[in-house]
Amino acid sequence: MSGDTDDITVIVETSALTQRFGSTVALDALDVQMRPGVTGLVGANGAGKTTLLHALLGLRTPTLGSARVLGLDPLSQGATLRAKVGFAPERDVLPDEMRAVDFVRHLAQVRGLPSSEARTRASDSLWLVGLGEERTRTLGTMSTGQRQRVKLAQAIASDPQLVLLDEPTSGLDPTQRSEILTLIGEISNEHSVSVVLSSHLLAEVERVCDHVVALDAGRLVASGPLAELVGDGEGVTLELVDVAEPAGSVDLVENTLRGAGVEVQRLGTTLRLGGGDRDELCDRARDAVAEAGARIRRLETRRRTLADLFEATSA
Ligand code: ATP
Repeated sequence: MSGDTDDITVIVETSALTQRFGSTVALDALDVQMRPGVTGLVGANGAGKTTLLHALLGLRTPTLGSARVLGLDPLSQGATLRAKVGFAPERDVLPDEMRAVDFVRHLAQVRGLPSSEARTRASDSLWLVGLGEERTRTLGTMSTGQRQRVKLAQAIASDPQLVLLDEPTSGLDPTQRSEILTLIGEISNEHSVSVVLSSHLLAEVERVCDHVVALDAGRLVASGPLAELVGDGEGVTLELVDVAEPAGSVDLVENTLRGAGVEVQRLGTTLRLGGGDRDELCDRARDAVAEAGARIRRLETRRRTLADLFEATSA
């Protein structure tokens, strides 16, 4: 694959991108930038991920705002753009009667490859995703995992600079999920193709993505390099024993810590502490517990995760 995105610093940019469906606002004045590499587009079901991917492909005219992908306008330059972008939709759109190799070749031709090149590339792509031996099987005889791989193969077959993958691990078990994520990471690294991967599974995105764009109800809640979003967020988890005596000891610990300037998120008897050095947070936690006469069940340091980020932004 000869992707040449190295000289492009922004592969996707949207400006006040808005998509309404009746009274539903699927994208709400979205300003976002994506850079080369693997970007995780995350958010709960209904957050607007699919709507954004469709807008980037020029499949629907937005209500307001605009997008640029690889420097092109998806609406006025849609045909040129779609020759440079591979797409794997979330829905299972594979025709059961067709052989995998014919399906992939057909879509490569639709994206502009001459027939002989499309045939070679279809075969190469199916080998790349681990379906070389199965390439002449009909799609209807394939397992869910194999069908997801065929979707990936067709997305990369036309030698794109960018591939948009909508929930590529949907329907897979944990082992299959892990395998396809590894494959996506390898394809991006070894073939210099940028990937935008939508998912509602935050741990999945953390495993494979360099960058994250997080949506909630059509709005941007976070965006940036994964390392920046989760890396510097070491904190401390303090779980207290739920004792009747002294009454309100968890409240007391919480209030003491807050009073000392510690950031506290409380879930029952568990307090997540942040906003300071790890050792200092542990010391403050022990002091507050001793002062309240409470008892510690667990006191441990932790790395911030994308799940924490979502909790913090929706608090
Ligand atoms: P999922 O992972 O469940 O597909 P998503 O993040 O991809 O979620 P979207 O499919 O983009 O979310 O949907 C965003 C919102 O827009 C949802 O409330 C959805 O019901 C609504 N929506 C999307 N497409 C349409 C449509 N064609 N007509 C009406 N409403 C739509």
